[in-house]
Amino acid sequence: MTTCKNYIHGHWTSLAHSPSLQAFNPSRGEVIALVPKSGAKEVNEAVAAAKAAFPAWRNTPPNERAQIFFKLKNLLEQSFEELALGISIEHGKTLSESRGDLRRGIEVVEFACGIPTLLMGESLENIARGIDCHTDRHPLGVVAGICPFNFPALVPMWMWPLAIACGNTFILKPSEKVPQTMQRIVALMEKAGLPPGVMNIVHGGRECVEALLEHPDIRAISFVGSSPVAREIYRKATASGKRVQSAGGAKNFVIVMPDADVEKTVGALKDSAFGCAGERCMAASAVVMVGEASERVLTALVDSVKEMKVGPTDERNVQPDMGALISSEHRERVAKLVDAGQHAGARLLVDGRHLQVKDAPAGYFFGPTVADQLDYGNPLVDTEVFGPVLSVLRAKTLEDAILSANRQPFGNGACIFTGSGKAAREFRRQVDAGMVGVNVGVPAPLAYFPFAGWNDSFFGDLHMQGKEGVDFYTKRKTTTTRWFGLGEGEIWAK
Ligand code: NAD
Repeated sequence: MTTCKNYIHGHWTSLAHSPSLQAFNPSRGEVIALVPKSGAKEVNEAVAAAKAAFPAWRNTPPNERAQIFFKLKNLLEQSFEELALGISIEHGKTLSESRGDLRRGIEVVEFACGIPTLLMGESLENIARGIDCHTDRHPLGVVAGICPFNFPALVPMWMWPLAIACGNTFILKPSEKVPQTMQRIVALMEKAGLPPGVMNIVHGGRECVEALLEHPDIRAISFVGSSPVAREIYRKATASGKRVQSAGGAKNFVIVMPDADVEKTVGALKDSAFGCAGERCMAASAVVMVGEASERVLTALVDSVKEMKVGPTDERNVQPDMGALISSEHRERVAKLVDAGQHAGARLLVDGRHLQVKDAPAGYFFGPTVADQLDYGNPLVDTEVFGPVLSVLRAKTLEDAILSANRQPFGNGACIFTGSGKAAREFRRQVDAGMVGVNVGVPAPLAYFPFAGWNDSFFGDLHMQGKEGVDFYTKRKTTTTRWFGLGEGEIWAK
């Protein structure tokens, strides 16, 4: 078992006499790490370190900063398999899903390697006679990131690579449920030559978050987690004058039209609903079958879901199709929602509640579940389940299906399966979500695009990743310049 340490000004520090939180291996139900509960004292120390490191880091030329990211990218590739297995052990997702989690994070590091180009400003000569104007980008100072459990590598890497590449110094609070992945990656950052104080980690829970939100020297907060917390973080941090991007939960709808390709739709829908055991903010959570689509697609989907193997993911050579949920409490919550959904009229076509995994009896497993005959008013439609549960609704027309998708309060992702360009276009224009797919599962955009949730899935203006990420972590300065006498002589006029 590991005892996690904070990382402040390049030193790994233990907290004397601190109460600890426990992190588990969800495949086995065993404690694997103790996580210190940092508070205001540790946050103050981290801010002091980040503040002290800021002037030199800010003055480091962007190209030199980029060189550290190139080195980091290589180190991440060298440790790729080891890091991926570590993610599976602390999160419970399969090894191939962990590889995806890390790969998508590395892509943000690759994007950050282009920081000299990304930071370029704009200029216009002669805005008036003899006067020039240019705009350039400046880092904000000390910025902080607060992360959820479900992507131990990717979500923190939406934040710090761009923040640091832009010249800010960073304080990360990883999820207390998956504290080790970022510790390992920060050790690689140290090896890549990142100066002390530029990146800092403080572990903990709510008290640690409160201290970050209240600290006057933190200029910006990036948050990803559930919507109630995301909304609160946005409110509190903006009230204390910070720039905030705060991503929340989701209820992603998929629409299947009668002309959809059955085999490809079933494959994509299954991956989208049950990948990472449904613990994804981009999981397909509800599917609206339009007209005869249900007859064509549902039977094949149910047959395919029944074949899925669920089991432990912490051994490299034996991997199932789906791993465990993050905790016994979360498994209990998902089971209760399925109970309540059934009570309110759901017909369970596949029921994952009673799954037993013989070789890992203490793991937090919940089998894939497909619940049919649903509509609003049922908790399986009204609530973000965040587990391997796909809710099936029916609609007569595309318009009804889009209206159904637009009734939920979130707006992260949505997708449609159809052979009709007209239906796809109508859906793309009318659906009330920020990340939309056509004939693909609910799609998470790559590093060079914004991760663009809408409505209750995002509080703020500038999203994570892509050029919006650079906008979030920089402020612009516009300089207007005039040099008297030069360029105004007779000779130039001729
Ligand atoms: P969570 O909201 O419970 O926790 C997220 C972070 O906030 C953690 O670091 C936690 O320590 C902290 N926290 C929790 N409660 C707090 C409180 N009351 N006050 C202050 N801080 C608090 O989320 P989770 O269970 O770790 O993650 C799952 C959620 O994250 C889901 O709702 C999922 O949809 C969402 N998520 C959203 C996105 C997105 O891009 N929109 C991406 C990943 C996950």
